[in-house]
Formats: sequence, structure tokens, C-alpha cells
Amino acid sequence: MKIVVVGAGAMGSRFGSALFTSGHDVTLVDSWIEHVDKINKNGLSVTDERGTRLIPITSVLPEEFSGRADLLLMFTKSMQTETMIKKCLHMIAKETEIVTLQNGIGNLEMLSKYISKDQLFAGTTTYASNLTEAGSVHAYGSGMIEMMHINGNRKEDAERIVTLLNAAGLVAKLSDDVMRSIWEKAAFNAVLNPLCTLTSSPVGTIGSYESIMEIIEGILEEIELISRAEGVSLDKRNVLSVIEGVFHPDMSAHHFSSMYHDIQRGRGTEIDYLNGAFIRKAHKHGISAPINTMIFHLIKIIENRFQMN
Ligand code: NAD
Repeated sequence: MKIVVVGAGAMGSRFGSALFTSGHDVTLVDSWIEHVDKINKNGLSVTDERGTRLIPITSVLPEEFSGRADLLLMFTKSMQTETMIKKCLHMIAKETEIVTLQNGIGNLEMLSKYISKDQLFAGTTTYASNLTEAGSVHAYGSGMIEMMHINGNRKEDAERIVTLLNAAGLVAKLSDDVMRSIWEKAAFNAVLNPLCTLTSSPVGTIGSYESIMEIIEGILEEIELISRAEGVSLDKRNVLSVIEGVFHPDMSAHHFSSMYHDIQRGRGTEIDYLNGAFIRKAHKHGISAPINTMIFHLIKIIENRFQMN
């Protein structure tokens, strides 16, 4: 089975190396030339609680890949999805199964402009990792993956992909409502990513502020209303309980969100696919979302200040 990971950043490298180590034929496809070259020259450097090792995995630029993928794992940032999938269409046959575990709202719409919905599987993951420099990834602790075919069809094929992930040590299960999973994860990110970024604070500091729930409840109430209008059964209480979990000092007290790191590195953020996506849907349904709108614009000001792309 040929597995292709498109977008070999922090998560693509982590997932790709786990699948490669479990014996699969995996290629990392990425547009960052320095990263691709380093992986091919030295191997992919993966650091986790067991130490650092070099994984002899192949990496190519999209145009260098020949052949077809049986399974394509999409792991670019959301703002890169459309450009990258257009560069990778030659790898996709009608039998290719495509899985996205990206954060944010809008990836499925972009992918389904180019790929049949019948081929699309989606979900979320709580695994975390960081691309520390070209060719090197740091994988943090364990996590969970929830996924399903986007229309809830092809359950047996989704089960087969879940089994493959579990065999690679990536804990996975089927989602019983994949749109709810994706929206609840996006709501979680729409709270914590901008709050860490705007306050330059780790998750623990945000959680210990005595009035933090006034802000969080406000963000989530708007998102819950928007989700109802969209026919998505997001439950604000599920999102709150995950947020409260990460506020626990043992969990992520010193952890900064990936949006904070992206800004520090002068890179663009996924704000258009988090609070930005929610406010676009709010406009469509005539729903007022002032808190998400404010947060969206504040992050945009920071992005513009550093002229990020
Ligand atoms: P990433 O930023 O590490 O990588 C995404 C792409 O950007 C890759 O193609 C990578 O090569 C490229 N890139 C990264 N740094 C670059 C640089 N300095 N110069 C040029 N190109 C560069 O993205 P990620 O963190 O792997 O996230 C992928 C998706 O997974 C996103 O939707 C994200 O929200 C989601 N996600 C991430 C995590 C996490 O812990 N990182 C956890 C869960 C979900």
C-alpha cells in the first residue's frame, strides 16, 4: 500500500514517521525545499519522550512524485490546502482514499472542489507536535484520532484506516458524527489559539485568570448558535469540558498554542478557518457574532503588522 503524506510539517512528519516505522511504504510530500532536502540527506529527525532518532523516509516536492497514492493523508495548514491539493492531483486515482485531520472549517469544501466526496474521510486529532527546524520534528505525548467518511458512508473502509493507524501506534477510533467532531475541535481552537496569541500567554496562565469563563462562554455561545443554523450538532458543554481539561496545571500549563508559535515565526495563522470561518457563516445566517469578530480582526492586525503569508 502506498501512503502519501501531503504537508510534511509538524503533524504530517509525526504521522508519516509512525506509519513508515510500522512498515508502510510512505512518502512525505512538501513544498519547503530545505525541509525536503534535509530529510533526504540526513533522515527525518524525530524527538519524543524516548529520545531522538533519524527516520530514513523519502520526501519529495509535489511535482517530483510519480505513481499513485492508495492513501493520501492531508496535513497542510488550512490556508495551504487548496494550492497544495492542486499540485498533488496527479497522485490521486479514483480509488485513492484521502484523509484530512486538519484543524478548522473549510478544508472539506476546498478538497471537494477537486476530489470526489466519495473519496474523502475526515476527522480530528489531539496529537501534538512541533516542527523545530527544517528536517526535525518534536512529537509530544500521546493523543487520539476520531475519523469517518465525510458522509458517514464507507464505514468498513473507515474502519480499515482506523486499524492501520492503531497498528502504527496512533490511537484512533471512528467518529459517530464527523461534522460535530470537526466543529467542536475548531471551536476549541477558536478559543485557545487566539487567546494565547493575543495575550502572549501559555494555556495555564489563561486558565488561571479568574474571569476567563466570561470570555470563553461568549465565544462559544456565538459558535453554538452558528452551528445550529448550519445543522451541526455542536455542544458547547463538550468543548468547555475539553478546555477545562487542558487548563488543569498537569496538562498544558506551559503550552503555547500553535497560532502563537506561527506568529513568533513570522508565519500566517489559521484564523480565517477558525473564528473567521465562524463569522462568515454567522453573516450568512444573519447571526450577530461580535466577540468572534473582534478576535478575528485583532489577529488580522497582528498578521498584517508582520506582513505574514
Ligand atoms: P506546520 O506549520 O508544521 O506545517 C504545515 C506546512 O507548512 C508543511 O508543508 C510545512 O513544511 C510548512 N512549513 C512549516 N514551517 C515552514 C517554514 N518555516 N517555511 C516553509 N514552510 C514551512 O503545520 P502542522 O502544525 O503540522 O499543522 C497541520 C494541520 O494539523 C493544521 O490544520 C493544524 O491546525 C493541525 N493540527 C496541528 C497540531 C499540532 O500540534 N501541530 C495538532 C492538531 C492539529
